[in-house]
Amino acid sequence: MKYLIPAFLLVSLLSGCNESARKTSETQTAGAATDTTLTTDLKSALASFGTDPLLNHIKILASDAYEGRSPGTRGEDSTVAYLTRQFTQMGLKPGNPDGTYIQKVPMVGFTAQPTASFTAGGKKINLNFPTDYVAITHRFVPQVQVNNADIVFVGYGIVAPEYGWDDYKGLDVKGKTIVMLINDPPVPNPQDTAQLDDATFKGRAMTYYGRWTYKYEIAAEKGAAACIIVHETGPAGYPYEVISGSWSRENFDISNPNKNMDRLPVEAWITTDKAQELFRASGKDFYALKKQAISKNFKPVPLGAQANFSITNKLREIQSQNVLAKLEGTDPQLKDEYVIYTAHWDHLGRDPKLKGDQIFNGALDNASGTAGLLEIAKAYTKLPQPPKRSILFLAVTAEEKGLLGSKYYANNPLYPLNKTLANINMDGLNPYGRTQDVIIVGYGNSTLDDILAQTATAQKREIVPEATPEKGSFYRSDHFEFAKQGVPALYAKSGIKAIDHDAKFLQDKADAYTANDYHKVSDDLKPGWDFSGAIEDLQLYLRVGYQVAQGQTWPAWKPGTEFRERREKMLQQKQ
Ligand SMILES: [Zn+2]
Repeated sequence: MKYLIPAFLLVSLLSGCNESARKTSETQTAGAATDTTLTTDLKSALASFGTDPLLNHIKILASDAYEGRSPGTRGEDSTVAYLTRQFTQMGLKPGNPDGTYIQKVPMVGFTAQPTASFTAGGKKINLNFPTDYVAITHRFVPQVQVNNADIVFVGYGIVAPEYGWDDYKGLDVKGKTIVMLINDPPVPNPQDTAQLDDATFKGRAMTYYGRWTYKYEIAAEKGAAACIIVHETGPAGYPYEVISGSWSRENFDISNPNKNMDRLPVEAWITTDKAQELFRASGKDFYALKKQAISKNFKPVPLGAQANFSITNKLREIQSQNVLAKLEGTDPQLKDEYVIYTAHWDHLGRDPKLKGDQIFNGALDNASGTAGLLEIAKAYTKLPQPPKRSILFLAVTAEEKGLLGSKYYANNPLYPLNKTLANINMDGLNPYGRTQDVIIVGYGNSTLDDILAQTATAQKREIVPEATPEKGSFYRSDHFEFAKQGVPALYAKSGIKAIDHDAKFLQDKADAYTANDYHKVSDDLKPGWDFSGAIEDLQLYLRVGYQVAQGQTWPAWKPGTEFRERREKMLQQKQ
């Protein structure tokens, strides 16, 4: 969180260091590769894409034989072997300078067995796991206990100096249990209260303050004993089952010598119903207090209730794997600069507690993106000659466990991040046909948007911002770990304007997927899927990466974005 706060405020332009070596897109100069030459160069590569090879990868990766591709399982071994075989067969070099395609990611698996209860208004409130609540600890310890911790409602629990916002107002919450709301406060625009105020928490778009990860980070920083987020489907962006499903199974974190003792003892979610019951028993009204929380003047509210948590933690150490391949650049000077494509290969595995279908096959999430990564890699091998800069193809582990594989790479890069010009991430390709539009998640963040817009014209397609910025999708996939380190990152998706169907077709499909299949065992390969739209998207991502790899200019974060300062600092570091 630390890097976030100053970034909003301090947007200083790049000055001084090593200007000669690198030009940012603001200083575009003549001699950049023209679109026609690019298209000629790319002809053979663009022509190499096909729906059958893409579908074939998905069929295999999403088959029951791969057991839902969970880290630390047989499914991981099969998936990593498949990816390595594919990269080898297409003639790409091992991406790890140690001569392998593998970056080992040391992780700890932990399975929480919690019990919990509240005492409010002199009454004991029992909580059923996982139907009423879920609770885990990221601390690598066998047992965590929180006894009779005073409960305080802290609204959205945010400290955002750039908005003059502090939900704690100096209250010491050390050792307490704090209850928080998910997402950002929907602050109305003072001029037009029917609208949200774009100047405060970016209006409709979710900022990082709205993410559940931020909530636990700030609670840990404040020394709380436990933090409970109240789940509300709208503000969270997904139903409670998504949380109860994944938090009641094994979770992971990156191995850490300090055993994650800087994390909260207890991280929990509770259903809205149970939260209301707690507030009522404390003589409070949940929705009335929620309303109060939308104001800068909000003050934290002790409920006069206590919380008890006991978590038994089953721990195991595993070595998971990122898979990395490389296409070396041809320019003697620029080959030590990189463009990196990513997709997470992992999904949710098998849940032996389920009756009937137990395997989360993850056909769209993210066998499709992984297949896309393979097809883009193959296409690069079809170029008459590799581009000037080098291209990396990184299939990361444990995205579903908290972006762990990409976090590990971004914190332990095999190639310097200050020589990495861009990250292009794929998470969920479109199986419903061609679209007129292309959605950019986090639209307006970097000049990669402009390159994509320009290349999309070649397909007579338009780029649009995401329709639901309040879901905070920019923070929910692997590009975010690169962005956090300052690397300009592009995360795009097919749009919703179908070319071969009526106007509502794609939105209905997307809604049905979120409601019925997202993170469910039913995210299987479906008959009739049409990847012609996905192929066009992959061709766009190829064009963008190639243009950056050939170009004279470095992509850059746009003024006012939360990552720009981090990039400037990084580029000023040693070259
Ligand atoms: Zn995913």
